[in-house]
This record gives sequence, structure tokens and C-alpha cells, in this order.
Amino acid sequence: MPDQNPRQRAWVEVSPAAIKANAGALCQHLTPGAELMAVVKADGYGHGAVTVANAALDGGATSLGVATLQEGLELRHSGLKAPILLLSNLCDPEELRTCLEWQLMPTLSSLGDAKLCHALAEDSGRRFKVQLKIDTGMSRLGCALDDGAETTQAIQRLKNLVLEGIYSHLACADDRNMTVTQQQQQRFQSVLEALPQRGHGLCRHLANSAGTLLEPNLHYDMVRVGLALYGHSPASHLSDVVPLRSALAVRAKVTLIREIQAGTGVSYGHQYISPHARRLAVVAIGYADGVVRALSGQIDALHCDKRLPQVGAITMDQLLIDATDAPDLHPGSIVTLLGRDQNVEITPQNWSDRCQSIPWEILCGFKHRLPRVEV
Ligand SMILES: *Cc1c(COP(=O)(O)O)cnc(C)c1O
Repeated sequence: MPDQNPRQRAWVEVSPAAIKANAGALCQHLTPGAELMAVVKADGYGHGAVTVANAALDGGATSLGVATLQEGLELRHSGLKAPILLLSNLCDPEELRTCLEWQLMPTLSSLGDAKLCHALAEDSGRRFKVQLKIDTGMSRLGCALDDGAETTQAIQRLKNLVLEGIYSHLACADDRNMTVTQQQQQRFQSVLEALPQRGHGLCRHLANSAGTLLEPNLHYDMVRVGLALYGHSPASHLSDVVPLRSALAVRAKVTLIREIQAGTGVSYGHQYISPHARRLAVVAIGYADGVVRALSGQIDALHCDKRLPQVGAITMDQLLIDATDAPDLHPGSIVTLLGRDQNVEITPQNWSDRCQSIPWEILCGFKHRLPRVEV
């Protein structure tokens, strides 16, 4: 829609400068020698993967992590040359062939996966860069712990493969209780100890955002950071470790102002009945844009440092706010649903606390009906 103003109805503002600053602050915090992988899966947690990738690399990240083949290809097609790791599993030979062609590193969970990649590489006459994942307690991807060292060495003997890294993923690093995280680290360490020179020469990595902020011992050769890169802490007790700045705001326009009498039912189901006469504003954003319906009556919109309560059921394309205290609000006024407006900020955590979600899900829930606008 190049011929349309992206700020006509509702939009997501993204700050590459904030991403770059967050990447820089995270790099500063890393144990010497450790590198930063910017995790940009799910379209850069809704911020726009190519925008985020470029800003993070500018800020000091050295590689990128994505979930799907399509996401990897999008980055390559945009001209990005940095190493890219696919964090999810691929099992289709056709997809793996595409990885080889575009230099996207797949994650392997077994020697069987490795042999398939080896055969594909043989056909193409090229060496295939891959990484091995070890399951240390997430019970999702990765080879069994007891096979970790043996599988690593068997892969290293496959001459058409280049094993670039060995890694695992933490299940509970945002928990105040560190028992599971410590156990996972010990397990990861036990695999490394069983390798020649403790796996030196391989890129060894374990930490997500929470692990990165929690404990430098978890940094190894690289950390894989998503949420913190976008300026949000994975847990309240980790919020002061590195100075981070939110990179996103969701804003929308008021399209209509109406006055209602006391006792008037508002929106579907009349979940809200006005106790007094009220001045309502209709805002052009709804759950089809990612403003979760479960938040109905639980959030505020910001306007000129004022918090205006959202009232009644959030509908597919519109929602209502009580603008009685904002007489200056008029059709065309811009309100902020998420992010900062002057001195007030509404965070993804504020939303997720009210709808049994998590900040990750809130951020990647903004639909592509909302144009992304770089600021
Ligand atoms: C998504 C993901 C990350 C990033 O997690 P955050 O908590 O957002 O930092 C790291 N590693 C893997 C394997 C992932 O899937």
C-alpha cells in the first residue's frame, strides 16, 4: 500500500534505534568472547524481521535466529549475509535442500537428521553448515542427553557437513527458582566435558533472554536473545540487569465521539453500562488487529499523559474508550494502546498480566493489517 498513508487508521511504530541500543547494551553485558544472536522469528516478534535484523547487526549482533524456512529466506532475499540459524525442526528433504542453497543453518536433533543433510550435500557438491541441539530438559527438540557427545563426534566425521555449533534451550530461566536451570547447565556441561577440548571450536550456546540476564556462566560462546532485544524483560526480577528500551508502540485514531446518558449499555453484550453521563470515543482498532478481546474493560488508552479507560467489549475492528476526562479528544486524535506516550508507558507485561498471556505472545499477536511504521 505505498500510495496510502500508513497512519490513517491504526499502526505499529517500530524504533530501529531502540533495537540497536538494546543490542549494544546486551553486547556490553556479555561475558568476554560471547556473541549475540538476534532472534527475529515470527517477523521479529511482530516488529518486522528485516528492520530488526539490520538494527541488531548495527548494534553488535553477529548472527540471526529464525523459526521457519520462510523467515530465513525473507532475510536472505533482503540481502542479509549474516549467519542464520533455523531454531525449529525441518524434516522435509526439499526444505533442507533450500537451506543448503541459501546458507541457512538447520538445527539437527539426531544422527539420522545429519545423514540426510550429508546425502543432500553430497548431491550438490557443497558442504552443509549445521548445528546440533541437545535436550537438557526442555523435552522438545534435541538429541537425548546420553547420546550428545557421541552424536556430536559422529556428525563431525561426516565430511560434507560442517558442525558449526552445539546448543540447548532453557525451559525455566525466567523462574526465580534456579534449580531447573542449574540442572540444565550441568547437563549441557557434561556433554561438553565428554568432547575433545570441551567442544572448543564449536559455537556452544544455551541462553535465551532470561539466561543472558540471569547469569554470565550461561553465556558460553553465544546467547540467543529475543524478548530483551525488543526492550522487555522476561521476568520482573531481571528487569534492572541491562538498560532496555521498548522498540514498539501501537497507536490508533479516534473516528467518532458520542455522548451517552447514565445507564446506557455499550458494545456487544452490554458488558459495560455507564454509571453516569459519559463522553465516549470510538477508536479504529480491534481484536482482528491483535488487541485481544480478553482485555475488554481491562486496559487504558493514552492521550497527552492521560489514561482513558477502555470500556465495553473490544470488537473485531473497533473499541471504545471513556473520554469524559479528555475534552480535547476529537475525531482524528491519535491514542496509544501500547508503548509510550510522553511520560506514560503501557507495556506488553501490563496487557499479559490481565489476560493470562505472556509478553512474547502479545508482541507477536499484532496482525499484519496494522502497517509497521519505522520511527
Ligand atoms: C525463541 C527462542 C529464543 C529467544 O527467546 P527469548 O526468551 O525471546 O529471548 C532462544 N532460543 C530458542 C531456541 C528459541 O526458540
